[in-house]
Amino acid sequence: MKGKGRAAKWGILPEAPGYNPVMSAIKPLPELLISQIAAGEVVERPASVLKELLENSLDAGARQIDVQLSEGGVRLIRIADDGGGINRDDLPLALARHATSKIASLEDLEHVASFGFRGEALASIASVARVTLTSRSSSEAHAWRISNTPNDQTLTPAALAGGTSIEVADLYYNTPARRKFLKTDATEYAHCDEALRRMALARPDVAFNLAHNGSVKHRLIAADLPRRARELLGAEFFAQARQVEAAAGDLRLMGYAALPAYSRAGRDEQYFFVNGRFVRDKLLAHAARQAYADILHGSRYPAYVLFLQLDPYGVDVNVHPAKIEVRFRDSRGVHQFVFHALQRVLAAPLAQVQSPHEEPRTTAYAAQHWPAPRQNSLGMNEPATAAYLEFSRSAFSGQPSLPQATEAAEATDAPLGYALAQLHGIFILAQNAAGLVLVDMHAAHERILYERLKNALEETSKVQQLLIPALFTASSTEMATAEEHAAVLVKLGFELAAAGPQQLTVRAVPALLANASVVDLVRALLADLKEFPASQVIEARRNELLSTMACHGAVRAHRSLSVPEMNALLREMEATDRADQCNHGRPTWSQLSLADLDRLFLRGR
Ligand code: ADP
Ligand code: MG
Repeated sequence: MKGKGRAAKWGILPEAPGYNPVMSAIKPLPELLISQIAAGEVVERPASVLKELLENSLDAGARQIDVQLSEGGVRLIRIADDGGGINRDDLPLALARHATSKIASLEDLEHVASFGFRGEALASIASVARVTLTSRSSSEAHAWRISNTPNDQTLTPAALAGGTSIEVADLYYNTPARRKFLKTDATEYAHCDEALRRMALARPDVAFNLAHNGSVKHRLIAADLPRRARELLGAEFFAQARQVEAAAGDLRLMGYAALPAYSRAGRDEQYFFVNGRFVRDKLLAHAARQAYADILHGSRYPAYVLFLQLDPYGVDVNVHPAKIEVRFRDSRGVHQFVFHALQRVLAAPLAQVQSPHEEPRTTAYAAQHWPAPRQNSLGMNEPATAAYLEFSRSAFSGQPSLPQATEAAEATDAPLGYALAQLHGIFILAQNAAGLVLVDMHAAHERILYERLKNALEETSKVQQLLIPALFTASSTEMATAEEHAAVLVKLGFELAAAGPQQLTVRAVPALLANASVVDLVRALLADLKEFPASQVIEARRNELLSTMACHGAVRAHRSLSVPEMNALLREMEATDRADQCNHGRPTWSQLSLADLDRLFLRGR
C-alpha cells in the first residue's frame, strides 16, 4: 500500500491501464480490500492456505491433523485437529485482521516460538474463499461455528468432540483474476502435498492424514525423525543418507544429508528447517551447495533434511509474509557453521561413518592395524602382516584362497573387507563382514589421488625428478600455454622446459603421479590451462586441475592388480576423505549383503 501511494505521488504509474491520475485522492482502503491485498502475498495458491492452516493446528498443540482436499484444494480444503480449540467469544476475532493469540508485544516477536504471529492468515483466506470455522475449547459444553458469509457472521452451536475444524471452499471465487493463475488440479495438489510433507518432517511427533478427492494419500502415524524421514523420502534416500549432528556455540545442526549417489535433478528434496520452520534460504542453500561442491556434479542437486537450531534472537522470521525466508543476525557465522558441519559429514572416511540404518561401527581404520608400510606400484602403503603374506601367496599362485580370506575378514573387521579377485580388469571383488563389496578400481584410485594431491599441494607438493626426462612434440598452443602458465605448473609440481621450437621436456612431476603416463598427463593439463585466462589465479581452478591430474594418474581399467595391491587400495579408501564417490560424484564402491545375495538365489534364511 505504501508502495502504491508513493508510486502514485511520484507519477510512476500514469500509463498503467485504467489509471486515472485525476481520481487519485488519498483515502483509506476498506477492510475487505486490505485483506484481499494481503491475501495476494499469503494466499498464493491452495498449498499456501494449507500451510497456514497446518501451522495454526500445530500452534494449537494438535497431535493429530486430518486434511481432506478436493480438486487440488481449489474446490475444498478441510482440516480438522485435536488442538486446544478457540473460545466461543474469540471465534469472530480469529477471522479478523491483525488478531492473534500468539504475541502481544515487540518483545514477544523477537523470540516468537509459534509458527504464526501476524494474525492475518485466516482473515486473508476468508477474504478470498468461503470459510467455515468450527471449534470447541475444553471450557465449552459444545462446539461453535462461524462462517464468513457476508452480512451473517452469527455464531451457531455445532457438534465437535474437541479441537478445531476449518473448511475453505471455492478459493478465489470472488477474485477471478487470481483464480486464473492457478494451475491444473494435479499441480495444485502436488504443491499441497509438498506443504504437508514439510510440516510432517518438521513435526514427526504429530500424526497427519491427507486425502485428495476421496483417496488416501498419506497416513503418517506419530513417529521419530528417522522413521518419518524414511516414510516421506523413501528407502533410497535413506540408504545413502548420512546422519548430521553438529553443535557450536548456540548453533546446532541435525538431520540427514544424502551422499551424491543419491542426488536429484532439482531442489525438490532439500528440506531446511530453522527453529522448526521450513525455510527457503539462499544463505543456507549456498552453504550446503558448497559442502557438496567437491563431490557432486554441477548439474545435480543434493538431497537433505536439515534442522538448524539457534537462539530465536539470532534470527528474524518476520521478513516474509509467508515466513519462508529468514534473516540471520550473524549470517557469516551461520554459513560457516553449516558448511563445515556438512562438509565434515560428507567427507568422513567410511570407517568413521555410521549410516542411519546401521549399528554403530567400532572398528578403527584398518590402516592402524597394519604397521610397517611400504609403497607398492600404485603409490599405496602396503601393509605387511601374516594375513597379507597369506594373500600374497595366494595371489602368486593365481588363485584366491577363500578359506583364508574368510579367516582374515573375520579376524579384522575392515569396512571394505579383503580382496578376493579382480573382475574383467575393472572391478575389485572383496569380502567384508556384511557380504560382497564391489569396487570400481579406477574411480576409487582417482578419488584417492585427488584427495592426496589436494593435501600435497597444501604442504607445497613433493616433486619427483624423472631419471629420463620425457620429451614430446608440442603444438604451438601447447608451447604458448606452457610458457604462459609456467608459474602454475611449478606450483602443481611440474618442471617443463622448451627443448626446441616445437618440443617440450618434462623434467619433474608430482611424486604422487610418478607412475602416470607423463606425456598424456602434461598434455591434458596444458589443454585445461589453455582454457583459463592468464590472470586466473590457480586457487580458483586448482581442483579442476588436480582432478585432471588424478584421472591421469589413476590406475587404468584392464591393468591387473595383485591381491596386496587391491587390499592396499581398499585400506586407502577407508582412510581417505570422500572416498566413496569419484570426483564426478559417481559411487566408487557398492555393497551386496549376504541377504542381497540370498535374494538373488531365492534362498530363504
Ligand atoms: P496467527 O496464526 O498469525 O495468530 P491466524 O490468522 O492464522 O493468525 O489465526 C488467528 C488466530 O486464530 C490465532 O492466533 C489463534 O488464536 C486462532 N486459531 C486459528 N486456527 C486455530 C486452530 N486450528 N486451533 C486453535 N486456534 C486457532
Ligand atoms: Mg496462523
